[in-house]
Amino acid sequence: MTQSEKKQVLIIEDEPDIIRGLVDALEFEGFAVASACTGAEGIEKAREISPDCVLLDLMLPDDNGYRVCEALRQDDPVVPIIMLTAKAQEADKVRGLEVGADDYVTKPFSVAELIARMNAIFRRQNRMAAQDETFSIGGWEINGRKHTMTKGRSTKRLTFYELEMLKLLRERSEEPVSRDDLLEKIWGVQANPNNRTVDNFIVKLRRKLEEDHKSPKHILTVYGFGYKLLP
Ligand code: CA
Repeated sequence: MTQSEKKQVLIIEDEPDIIRGLVDALEFEGFAVASACTGAEGIEKAREISPDCVLLDLMLPDDNGYRVCEALRQDDPVVPIIMLTAKAQEADKVRGLEVGADDYVTKPFSVAELIARMNAIFRRQNRMAAQDETFSIGGWEINGRKHTMTKGRSTKRLTFYELEMLKLLRERSEEPVSRDDLLEKIWGVQANPNNRTVDNFIVKLRRKLEEDHKSPKHILTVYGFGYKLLP
């Protein structure tokens, strides 16, 4: 494999032992690897190299991983971001997913598992790229490849998860889709009545799509169940 065909991974992590272990294992698996020890350096590096995947530590010396994740997402709505977290609590994981992470692993993690998850994300991306679809909702033209929605002269960006939600709601627009289904199909997280991830994303989508997000005409609430899309 030549250098340019290799997937480039950026590790943002302040523990030298973890960086060393990951660099060795990922290079052995055929990835090109860059690393940064602080959030600021990581954001800078990501702009410079446009990595194919970011491994992001939650606890960094200069900033917390959530804020770094949001900054990375603003620059690039689609790059896969996997959080490396020492915290096992579900709330932390879900918060990571809400700010735009694609997945997380809890320290101490096995490198084999991490690589399996990275490869799963790459496969999912390939499938999405192959679909390359556009569709319209409420007069907005959604472009699945560019992650944009356009109406007249207004163009807004959609994050990976916002787009995935719209696609799933659209695929099943004949019927309401339950919160649990959205959570499981899109985030791969088990149903949990305290989990507000889906509702939080619906709020964001309504603000982007609806003329009046307080009285939605396209993303409708089905009380006690989930949501239904009226394109
Ligand atoms: Ca750390």
